[in-house]
Amino acid sequence: MLRVVKVGAACRLVSGVLALVVAVGCSRRDGDGHVAERRHTPRALRSAEVTLPGSGRADTTGAPDAGAAPLAVVGGHDGGGAPVAPGTPGTWVLHMVDVGTGLAIVVEGPDFTLIYDGGSNDDLADERANRLVSYLAAARPDLRRIDHVVLSHAHRDHVEFLPDVIDRWEVGAVWEPGVLAKVCAYQRFVHAIASHPRIAYHTAAHMAGPQRVSFPRSSCRVPKEVDLTYAAPIAEGAVVRLGDGATMRFLHVDGERRENLNENSLVVRLELGERSVLLPGDAEAGKRDAADVAPAPSSVEGKLVLRHAKELASDVLVAAHHGSRTSTRSAFLDVVAPKLTLVSGGPHPYASHTLPDPEVVELLRSRGPVFRTDVDDAACASSKAKIGRDADGRPGGCDNVRVTFRKGEAPRAEYFRGHD
Ligand SMILES: [Zn+2]
Ligand SMILES: [Zn+2]
Repeated sequence: MLRVVKVGAACRLVSGVLALVVAVGCSRRDGDGHVAERRHTPRALRSAEVTLPGSGRADTTGAPDAGAAPLAVVGGHDGGGAPVAPGTPGTWVLHMVDVGTGLAIVVEGPDFTLIYDGGSNDDLADERANRLVSYLAAARPDLRRIDHVVLSHAHRDHVEFLPDVIDRWEVGAVWEPGVLAKVCAYQRFVHAIASHPRIAYHTAAHMAGPQRVSFPRSSCRVPKEVDLTYAAPIAEGAVVRLGDGATMRFLHVDGERRENLNENSLVVRLELGERSVLLPGDAEAGKRDAADVAPAPSSVEGKLVLRHAKELASDVLVAAHHGSRTSTRSAFLDVVAPKLTLVSGGPHPYASHTLPDPEVVELLRSRGPVFRTDVDDAACASSKAKIGRDADGRPGGCDNVRVTFRKGEAPRAEYFRGHD
């Protein structure tokens, strides 16, 4: 039975979380787009007592389906549980970092750390101030190594922060479509990989071995050509062992040059013990349309349903394309059958649309609880207590979502706020 615990709109934050002062490195991008190292000492990360506006918390009003597996959902920032210490056997934690308009997912297991996307269209701060680097530095000051960085596709709202991540932490492997795009943040990302040759760099577009590649004409202030050594290419259906009881399976892999980079979205399903998470990036089903329209067979969602219907079922879904009507058709949702959906969105419009689309949120809510990063965007912009730059007039930094998977227990979802 699905258990939903509602918590009042005004609530206290997680108490006793992380009172630490550490010296950490950070990087600063110079005028040429290169990255330079410097050191700083961040302020203490500590819990804060903040009264949230009464604009509502998690969309926990969705009717749970009768056959759903147990799932504990906590609606308020006070979470209701102490944060899990990293390294606890049989425990995995997924963080959806509130990066404003974009996506950043961090998954921690007892024996690995994985990032799936890290970018934003409205938080373009670099060095320590960007929301993802700030979040990691604040929540995990002892983190030294990130075993896997997965980039779904080269759009800025997915890649903007990743060059700083690669320069700042030791990264084991990178997985991405490999289509050389004009996007400047993507080009910085590839140059960052090139400058750390120990990274195992897997793409869908390049065979293993050394190769000199050229970016398409652009105004990006990075060298047009770059020497890379690629690792084995990513194959659809391939399974990567992440750690004890945890795997990553690639369900959509496309390294062809497409008009729309979203069509390259690397779709990944994680198995964390007996639970699973589907990460579809900006996979689309066709043009903006109603949910009952079948996904186009040539679309990423269409291909997923055709080729991997049996493997799509997942306890947790991170909604594709920020909850856009281009994605998440009913036919897709029927096979994924998530117990819980996470949506990362913000006020920066995509073309003329601000995401998520209300119709998609409504559809998701009809299937189960929905947690989203954009709940408090207006108040968050002027907040003096958020991750990353404070009161900078920009969204992000407030509505981080954390899902904890413990072996033998129901997954637990909650909002998580801290400040750095
Ligand atoms: Zn996107
Ligand atoms: Zn995109």
